[in-house]
Amino acid sequence: MKRLSGKVALITGAGRKKGIGYACALRLAEEGANVVVADLGAASDGEIYKGGAHVDLEAVAADISATGVQALAVKVDVTDHVSVQQMVDRMKEVFGRLDILVNNAGTTMEPAPLVHTDLEAWRKTIDINLTGTMLCCRAAAPLMMDNEEGGKIINMSSRAAHRGAIWIHAYCASKAGIIGLTRSMALELAPFKICVNALCPGDIDTELKRWGWGKEALIMGKTVEQIAEETAKATPLGRIGTPEDVAAAVAFFASTDADYLTGEILNITGGNGMRPIF
Ligand code: NAD
Repeated sequence: MKRLSGKVALITGAGRKKGIGYACALRLAEEGANVVVADLGAASDGEIYKGGAHVDLEAVAADISATGVQALAVKVDVTDHVSVQQMVDRMKEVFGRLDILVNNAGTTMEPAPLVHTDLEAWRKTIDINLTGTMLCCRAAAPLMMDNEEGGKIINMSSRAAHRGAIWIHAYCASKAGIIGLTRSMALELAPFKICVNALCPGDIDTELKRWGWGKEALIMGKTVEQIAEETAKATPLGRIGTPEDVAAAVAFFASTDADYLTGEILNITGGNGMRPIF
């Protein structure tokens, strides 16, 4: 029997085939879980990262079912509490339970110095990354409370929550907020055997990361490939992270191997973040 057989997992922001959410969905499916993939039906708007091509959630769900589990595709805007509730209701209708929630949907804003920070972009970024995480937890927690075995909530924070990153204030603030939210929910939900943990990835090669490298490349007069190479060299393990690296940690936190872990914050950085000199 596989590690997650019989479990039901819901992953937000799982619509991009090169993204972390997709890798998590596939990994949890390979471990035996039935999977709900949720994402926007189209690119987001505003002065924020808009993502790549149109998200074909049905194609993602087809990849998941090909592993032999059941998959369900649901459109959601995590900033809209009605849409979030509809997502959870649909999931309940099809699967009747929820064991694993991965709050992965996220975005970043156009980098800008503090004095030029666009208020709309700030609000939208906080809304998607932080409020969206809270809304999904709020709607999903009652279902997990009904489970005798409890549940696992895994929130996607970022290394940027700890160490900051220049010109993306809303991103850093929202990801730091996710850490506070994670710990506060971990305390409240522990009596229900619901474990709440957060992951802090460093540089993971996705469309979102390449968009950021593109901005950096413009400012530094370099190419995206140069930035990627320099980043790999500056990483103690000598390479950029992959969505699968993050998915492996998600699978661990989703499993019974992590039953005694809650309120934990795990870096996934290849060691990048430690100071390599005296
Ligand atoms: P991505 O752009 O591939 O994935 C983000 C997904 O979130 C997209 O599919 C997008 O459509 C979805 N989304 C955005 N707004 C939404 C909304 N309102 N409702 C529902 N879905 C929405 O980027 P990724 O790099 O795979 O990022 C996934 C998560 O990992 C994000 O939370 C990101 O902040 C976090 N993260 C990424 C890195 C990295 O280096 N790539 C590092 C640290 C943290």
